[in-house]
Amino acid sequence: MYLRAVSIRGFKSFATKSVLNFEPGITVIVGPNGSGKSNITDGILWALGEQSARTLRGASMEDVIFAGTAHKQALGAAEVSITLDNSDGAVPIDFSEVTITRRLYRSGESDYRLNGTPCRLIDIHEILSDTGLGREMYSVISQGRLDDILNSRPRDRRQLLEEAAGVLKHKRRRDRATRKVGSMESKQS
Ligand code: ATP
Repeated sequence: MYLRAVSIRGFKSFATKSVLNFEPGITVIVGPNGSGKSNITDGILWALGEQSARTLRGASMEDVIFAGTAHKQALGAAEVSITLDNSDGAVPIDFSEVTITRRLYRSGESDYRLNGTPCRLIDIHEILSDTGLGREMYSVISQGRLDDILNSRPRDRRQLLEEAAGVLKHKRRRDRATRKVGSMESKQS
């Protein structure tokens, strides 16, 4: 599995639709300060379901929508799609390519799609959980995060390693099950 393409429209500095195609191996994106390099990794994180505006370097989620410039009007929606090559079947669905899309309107309405079909964020988490790819799996390390990781306390570092090793999925399932049991118990009493 590898990242084959990223398509961005209306997200941060990407006013018009831009498509980046990647090959297996290392890709380097070069550009002057402030040209939007980090906005690409922000876009990938966002499509994977990032919920924290701060992690995306904004104050509110609406900040990811193109805010306009002197020459271009602000847009009403942001959309990012990431396409994964799944010819090795790492993502447990029957497609050789998997496209995850997230869209957000200024009204606050938002949706996710998996190969064009509307889905829930939890469905995306589930299918990615065994692949090591996900917003909390450290497959994307954004600007400034590397310092945090290198300077973290042993306890925090342990948590990070456990998450990268895939323990997070099981913790999530346990938490969901615990919540369900809790709500059933409170209904019964
Ligand atoms: P550096 O190398 O300095 O970290 P960079 O190339 O990674 O820079 P980014 O931080 O990705 O650049 O991009 C910053 C640019 O994105 C700024 O010019 C900022 O104005 C623009 N930008 C961010 N959010 C929006 C938005 N919602 N609408 C329009 N432009 C935006």
